Amino acid sequence: MAMKEINERSLWWENTLPVSIPDFSLPQRTDVAIAGGGFAGLSAALELRRSGVEVTLIEKDWPGHGACSRNLGLVMDRIDGTTTGDLDGLVHGVKKCDLIREGRAAHDYVLELIKRDNISCKLRQRGKLVLATTKSAYETMADTLERLKKQSGSVDAYMVPKQDLGKEIGGRANKIYHGAKVHPEAYDLNPGQLTAGMVQRLADSGAMVCSSTQLESVQRQSNGTFTISTNRGDITAEHVVLATQGYSGAETGFLQKKIFPFLAHVVATEPMPQDLLKELLPALRGVVDTKQMFFNFRPCDKETRLILASHYLRTDDNHTQSNRILNAYRKLFPELEQIEAEYCWYGNLALPSDHLPHIGTQDGVHFCATPSFSMALYLGSKMAKRILKADDAGTLFDNMPTRNFPYYSGNPSLLYRGLRMLFNGLDYLNVAAPK
Ligand SMILES: Cc1cc2nc3c(=O)[nH]c(=O)nc-3n(C[C@H](O)[C@H](O)[C@H](O)COP(=O)(O)OP(=O)(O)OC[C@H]3O[C@@H](n4cnc5c(N)ncnc54)[C@H](O)[C@@H]3O)c2cc1C
Repeated sequence: MAMKEINERSLWWENTLPVSIPDFSLPQRTDVAIAGGGFAGLSAALELRRSGVEVTLIEKDWPGHGACSRNLGLVMDRIDGTTTGDLDGLVHGVKKCDLIREGRAAHDYVLELIKRDNISCKLRQRGKLVLATTKSAYETMADTLERLKKQSGSVDAYMVPKQDLGKEIGGRANKIYHGAKVHPEAYDLNPGQLTAGMVQRLADSGAMVCSSTQLESVQRQSNGTFTISTNRGDITAEHVVLATQGYSGAETGFLQKKIFPFLAHVVATEPMPQDLLKELLPALRGVVDTKQMFFNFRPCDKETRLILASHYLRTDDNHTQSNRILNAYRKLFPELEQIEAEYCWYGNLALPSDHLPHIGTQDGVHFCATPSFSMALYLGSKMAKRILKADDAGTLFDNMPTRNFPYYSGNPSLLYRGLRMLFNGLDYLNVAAPK
């Protein structure tokens, strides 16, 4: 069989991105300069524009080019470190149950933003499935869920034992997995459309959006203002926001080493018959498993293809990657033997050393770093509210210590190799990741 051409663009960009908006030349001065046109930067900019603040957003490619339009579109509320142990236990001095509540607030903020800005992005409540790769992972999930239900009462999630897995997922899932947890009320969306909608709203709001403009350095002046150097000249700003997330380079100074650019690849299959898709995923939910080299997949928004992600932390070409990913998924779904990959793309997740969301101000510069897009949107608005000195600017993530990512000097490739060995080793020993 002849090999199909692989499209190296994100499927979510089709007919959606980049958005055609006026390109501004860099102004000489601005109230707030925001570097990075992903969800955090767009959210901060929209919040500031709503209060009439002058905003200049600088983006080295075009707004939406980063992880915001390359992800799976699963709206998350989970905060790492809160899924095991005592819910009254502390993470950086904050109770886990309070962090869970703030994760929920970030989730709800996504829904609020979509409604408020009237963005059409195929938001659907299909639910999410978390597959347990070991018996103890299943028991831990069940135990945490039980305690969460006792504590807050209104938890919609439920467990599905191994023998009932067929109701949720086909293929060889009941041979591989030990059961699952279902979040029936979880949402998914088309992240390309959400990004495009936000870019359009921002352009309509009168913000200056400067594409192909790369931040090169930020310098604080003695009068408290900042001089931002870019490839298109300098700009003076009263406030600066770094929203460069998993693409933070040396030019972001202190931020670069706090964020590990965790590489994840995604394959979109060719369209497949609806009944095959329903056979593999009867409820059409988004799925993640508890392997360290985890599987994370969903049907696309039109329910014609599967979108399959994994993070082998390899920088091989897209053909090699798509074969690797598709072949791994074929072990779960032998039915995919006849189905080919049509798209394969990659993106960088922003991974802080403790995997928690972070927001802060260092040397007068506002920043955030977070591995989920609901938090990127939420913390983006919080960065803006800090500048506005709004009453609701605070979050539990304020002042959490942000450390440099261990052994990361700015070149991720060595660490990719180390992490790959670690994850493969843990998977070999059947050590599940808490989810
Ligand atoms: C494959 C994959 C799947 C994912 N799946 C999910 C999921 O299902 N659910 C979920 O919640 N999260 C998911 N994520 C994570 C989520 O996409 C990110 O957490 C989030 O989008 C990152 O925040 P952002 O959108 O603000 O950053 P980005 O979109 O990455 O934006 C950062 C921007 O900064 C720009 N930039 C960098 N340096 C400079 C500079 N010097 N000057 C100017 N601009 C600069 C970049 O070009 C980029 O556009 C996934 C990520 C990946 C990669």
